[in-house]
Amino acid sequence: MRYVSTRGRATEASSAEAIVRGLAPDGGLYTPARLAALPPDFLPDLAALPYAARAARVMALFLTDFTEAELLGFARQAYDSGRFDTPEVAPVRSFDDGVHLLELWHGPTCAFKDMALQMLPHLLRAALPKTGDTRRVLILTATSGDTGKAALEGFRDLPGIQILVFYPKDGVSRVQELQMVTQEGEGVCVSAVRGNFDDAQTGVKALFSDAALRAALDEKGCFFSSANSINLGRLVPQAAYYFSAYCDLVRRGAVAMGAPVHICVPTGNFGNILSALMAREMGLPVARLLCASNRNNVLTDFIRDGRYDRRRVFYNTLSPSMDILVSSNLERALYLLSEGDTALVRDCMDRLGREGAYELPKALRARFAARFYAGYCDDAGTREEIRAAYEDRGYLIDPHTAVALRVAGDFRAETGDGTPVLVASTASPFKFCGAVLSALGRAQADGPEKAQMEALAALSGVSPPPALTDLWTKPVRFTGVTDAAEMERVVRSFLA
Ligand SMILES: *Cc1c(COP(=O)(O)O)cnc(C)c1O
Repeated sequence: MRYVSTRGRATEASSAEAIVRGLAPDGGLYTPARLAALPPDFLPDLAALPYAARAARVMALFLTDFTEAELLGFARQAYDSGRFDTPEVAPVRSFDDGVHLLELWHGPTCAFKDMALQMLPHLLRAALPKTGDTRRVLILTATSGDTGKAALEGFRDLPGIQILVFYPKDGVSRVQELQMVTQEGEGVCVSAVRGNFDDAQTGVKALFSDAALRAALDEKGCFFSSANSINLGRLVPQAAYYFSAYCDLVRRGAVAMGAPVHICVPTGNFGNILSALMAREMGLPVARLLCASNRNNVLTDFIRDGRYDRRRVFYNTLSPSMDILVSSNLERALYLLSEGDTALVRDCMDRLGREGAYELPKALRARFAARFYAGYCDDAGTREEIRAAYEDRGYLIDPHTAVALRVAGDFRAETGDGTPVLVASTASPFKFCGAVLSALGRAQADGPEKAQMEALAALSGVSPPPALTDLWTKPVRFTGVTDAAEMERVVRSFLA
């Protein structure tokens, strides 16, 4: 499969090249020139396999310059080496009203980012020799919470790869900070940055484009790469779990083979739902993709009205990983649904940069409407949904999953459509104990994090993941705090 830039001004790339480069040289995102159609009997064959083998087979459809044996080896290392707390890896929890939750948080950092970030390092390491690059890689990442920890866990202890994560000193939760500063393993470094996420992100972007620093890196036989969700190597492992979940639904008799389901995804940067869109366009029986947003509902307006407008107030919500006004991966959906109209994509992205808004032509708007439904939910609705899931289903969910579950319910109420819905559950509720306890009306919601976690465990009878309970006793390894202007010094001393 060949990959093209969504902006049409870069040469085609192999999948290995796309993974090594991350962003295309013209600023666009590498996207399949044409999506593969599923071979005959693909789904029945897939259903007979365990998760790692399913993932390898799905990834082989995209990553045609890797062998399936190679991909299976990576999938086994990523998913079967004890880093996930269940052999099913991404189990589906079914309820009798036809709502099915796809639990994507059984990995080492308890959020769905692990599904891709446990795989990306293997793909990147194997991609380098395929592209003829013999240099070592320095992964540089700014994080608002979940990505940094998941990337650290994925890239630790890998020869030839180092990773440096910057997080905003006052912009992450205490649990998220502890997860990062207690990181174990070789080749890892974490630094706090004074300021907010934008300061850290802007600082990292400046490092990427600092020619002197790049030259210094090159002299050491090293180059920068990124682990964020514009990398193709994150989208492909995500497509795998939608195929896998469909197979699980068929096996338990919840849908007949070939019958449609809806998929509902709590969305921020549009990466997770983009993977579901690709699966659908390749032939996975998906009727509608339900795009769920929090109060930062720029995507709801876009899908309903065909107009993307980022010029609005930014809200901090209970579902912080979806607090975003510019969803990068939407650019790939524009490319795919316009059937590769790169001039149109360029025009939309130009307008977004210059004016902060753009509007879709009618035909393209209709193609989005045929595939997507969109809805949103504010913090009050999020709390209600957490409580309802606990009281009515006996099931504890995190605030991001709550947003999706609410929107899935709204869709069913609005349309009367009883087709089974697969809802992506993207984080363990124990990552957001305060929000969950407050939704359940418990006083401990204001206490220290350790007490909150214990209270939630006692209340629900569910044990928190060991990766989170260990946090309170692990030694802190990284105490550095830097000014945004001094981030280069951190990079240089890490290299030395
Ligand atoms: C990153 C994240 C999301 C949003 O996923 P996108 O791919 O950015 O749309 C949703 N929920 C959780 C818990 C996340 O960490």
